[in-house]
Amino acid sequence: MAILEVLKFPDSRLRLKGAPVLSVNAEMKQLAEDMLETMYSFKGIGLAAIQVNRQVRLLVTDTRPREGGRYKPEEQTELERAVVQPLVLFNPEIIKKEGKTTYDEGCLSVPTYYETVDRFDYVEVKALDIDGKEILIKTDGLLAICIQHEIDHLDGKLFIDRLSPIKSARIKSKIKKHGYPDPSHPESEEDLDEAEADEEREEHRL
Ligand SMILES: [Zn+2]
Repeated sequence: MAILEVLKFPDSRLRLKGAPVLSVNAEMKQLAEDMLETMYSFKGIGLAAIQVNRQVRLLVTDTRPREGGRYKPEEQTELERAVVQPLVLFNPEIIKKEGKTTYDEGCLSVPTYYETVDRFDYVEVKALDIDGKEILIKTDGLLAICIQHEIDHLDGKLFIDRLSPIKSARIKSKIKKHGYPDPSHPESEEDLDEAEADEEREEHRL
């Protein structure tokens, strides 16, 4: 087990696309285990292989409510609760999508930034599990949003690409100019506010 480095925007490697996994072998299983450990260590709820500089179509999730977290057990939908998590999905593919929803998304690769993103409300996802067996996930709720966010990563896409052009450009140039606020060394009042807000939401990075 190992905690992997998570690439941060504007690292150009986040723009690479994942290649299909031809065989769920020992190396791929190890990568999935390391990604889960990495995701938990940064209090994320999802992680895609592209974020840890591995260009394969693999994502992991665990959107279950956690002790003291913002996401409460009563907010979980029935469909989401029926999915056994953590999930390890190789070659995930959305084969059905319905309805619309929005969510205040964050990302381990864009820390401290949260923006409302449009997503499908319900998805059916075909994938291979950790044993290389074909599975079909049917879900809505936070898990459906998380899976869509992670599949975007596998296509080199970030949630900040899905905002209005003006908002997207503003956030990207702000990060390129100032980097990310350091919660332990806030330099301005604004940084302090952002760090505090981030503390509350840090379990919600995808
Ligand atoms: Zn992300």
